[in-house]
Amino acid sequence: MKMTAETNPTSVEIPSKLSAIQNLKNQHSRIISGGTILQINWEAGLEKPEHLISTEKLPELIGIAEVQLDGKLYLKMGAAMTISDCLNNSFVRKNASILAEACEKIAAPAVRNRGTIGGNICSKIGDTIPALLVLEAQLSFYNGEQEYMISLRKWLAKPTPPSAELLTSIFIPIIHRQNYSFFRKIGRRESFTAAIISIAGYLEYEENTIKAARLSIGGGAHLPCRLTSAENELNKAVKEIDWSCLYKEIQDDFSSYTDPFVTAEYRKKVAANLFVSRVKDFLKEQRKE
Ligand SMILES: Cc1cc2nc3c(=O)[nH]c(=O)nc-3n(C[C@H](O)[C@H](O)[C@H](O)COP(=O)(O)OP(=O)(O)OC[C@H]3O[C@@H](n4cnc5c(N)ncnc54)[C@H](O)[C@@H]3O)c2cc1C
Repeated sequence: MKMTAETNPTSVEIPSKLSAIQNLKNQHSRIISGGTILQINWEAGLEKPEHLISTEKLPELIGIAEVQLDGKLYLKMGAAMTISDCLNNSFVRKNASILAEACEKIAAPAVRNRGTIGGNICSKIGDTIPALLVLEAQLSFYNGEQEYMISLRKWLAKPTPPSAELLTSIFIPIIHRQNYSFFRKIGRRESFTAAIISIAGYLEYEENTIKAARLSIGGGAHLPCRLTSAENELNKAVKEIDWSCLYKEIQDDFSSYTDPFVTAEYRKKVAANLFVSRVKDFLKEQRKE
């Protein structure tokens, strides 16, 4: 007989500190935060796990603050902070405005009040990830023995089992150099909609030269990534940028997919148009100043 939730109900563990978690390494466990993605998966027919580990009472996952780490300043965000907490937080708005922009584009207020930044990242498809990639976010994970840090970019490249490690905090470097950043989510409707693509960019500019360029893309079912060849094409004196090459690099760097509504080619073209126009608009503004 197949075991279902009716014959074998899911047990729930609600630890009140990290060291009290009991079943992190158990392959039948799953971490749950807001549950907004897990709930959709279960409604779509995915089997419920035997055991859930809830993050809701873990104090280590709460709070948003500016902190010093190895002599550097970071914005530290607890993984259990909701999308609304992040959106409305003054430190986030000051130090990571594109993250606030990304949060504003996620779902409707009821979901934002329940869904967490940790769940958004750990789904590996959340709309905050492109913004966090260009902000060069670091993640802190608890592996059952200790916490360790890894860059979001490296972590995305790792194949992780569902519940072996628990995300505790997100660290965003606080940069005092002048910079320009942007986030844009394209959906099939203006709001309350899943993304066709979400893009983010970060530029440092000085004396007619782009000193640092970071571009990233995600949204829909894409695994978010940085567009490194396109970044290289931008990292130079403005007069040396080959715009048609940049347009092509963006499309080549971005590995997309076709679904019943949108082709991969369409997504690639939209992405290239968006990036190129945002960068050109920024440079036009700089020339006026
Ligand atoms: C109607 C609706 C609309 C939505 N629209 C959007 C949207 O526009 N953009 C978007 O990005 N998302 C959207 N979502 C998805 C979701 O609400 C958000 O991504 C939310 O931030 C997920 O957080 P959560 O806490 O609910 O995750 P959960 O469902 O609790 O968990 C999601 C995944 O992360 C894992 N996980 C959770 N917390 C941790 C942790 N601390 N450590 C390790 N693993 C963890 C879980 O095991 C699970 O695999 C939508 C959902 C709904 C229901």
